[in-house]
Amino acid sequence: MQVLDGKTVAHAVKQEIKEKLINFKKNGGKTPHLAAVLVGNDGASETYVASKIKNCEEIGFKSTLIRFEENVGEDELLHTITVLNENVDIDGILVQLPLPKHIKEEKVINLINPDKDVDGFHPSNVGRLVQGLPAFIAATPYGIMLMLKHYQIETTGKHAVVIGRSNIVGRPMSILLSQNMPYGNCTVTLCHSKTKNLKAMCLQADIIVAALGKPEFLTGDMVKENAIVIDVGINRVKDDSKKKGYHLVGDVKYDEVAPKCSYISPVPGGVGLMTIAALLLNTFNASVRNRKLID
Ligand code: NAD
Repeated sequence: MQVLDGKTVAHAVKQEIKEKLINFKKNGGKTPHLAAVLVGNDGASETYVASKIKNCEEIGFKSTLIRFEENVGEDELLHTITVLNENVDIDGILVQLPLPKHIKEEKVINLINPDKDVDGFHPSNVGRLVQGLPAFIAATPYGIMLMLKHYQIETTGKHAVVIGRSNIVGRPMSILLSQNMPYGNCTVTLCHSKTKNLKAMCLQADIIVAALGKPEFLTGDMVKENAIVIDVGINRVKDDSKKKGYHLVGDVKYDEVAPKCSYISPVPGGVGLMTIAALLLNTFNASVRNRKLID
């Protein structure tokens, strides 16, 4: 069993970006600039955004954090997006989800200039992805693809079961794995909350991507020998012995599943780190693209 080590792969991806950045700047490119918009005080969202900002600093990108109170009006948020769209110094825009209920996420995402949509959530980027055209790909599935590439995992002809059909993880993941390209070419089954006999589906899978947000849902008896298991879940489990009052677990019962796997990604230390690396790569690519547009 080989652990898919997000720390190692993310580090390698970031090193590659750093090297590309040196060349880009030598050739007159400017420092890539990511704008992150955070609404409210949700603990997990705060942690994710802080980590994205910190990673930008570490890699040598500029970042701007724009914070709003929970009760910000939709119009004010939309106005901010318009301003960021028009600012030529901003290469990438991300709006941390979820947004409060009184704001329509769809409206906000759809307003982001697709060329600055480094989260890959805009319908234009999703459509391009589906058609196999160059696109910003949602950072988590993109990060998983980078992980498969790093470990040179052969996926062609394999049966992949993706559990979860969200727009940000499961659905784009199912598209990427089924595409005719390296680390794709799988036969994909996309499972969700209405799927019947999920266990039977999983037992047929050579690759399982667990992205449903249920702590330790995938158990040892649901996985066949030598399967490749990618755990996307990040679940907080109450734990009074920890300073924070919780610890993180994935959607996979690691101790039971890992011994059966050929490869498995842990939580923490797996896909989460890849998500940030992929976001940085998207931001760098947005900057390269932005420069071409300015020139
Ligand atoms: P979501 O709640 O939007 O979607 C969950 C999906 O799981 C739904 O499509 C639902 O149909 C499916 N589902 C729910 N219960 C099910 C069940 N019993 N059987 C089969 N399918 C079921 O969640 P999301 O935003 O896609 O996130 C999923 C998990 O991944 C969460 O734990 C989230 O925190 C985590 N996540 C991690 C990263 C990362 O960087 N590692 C990024 C995004 C999300």
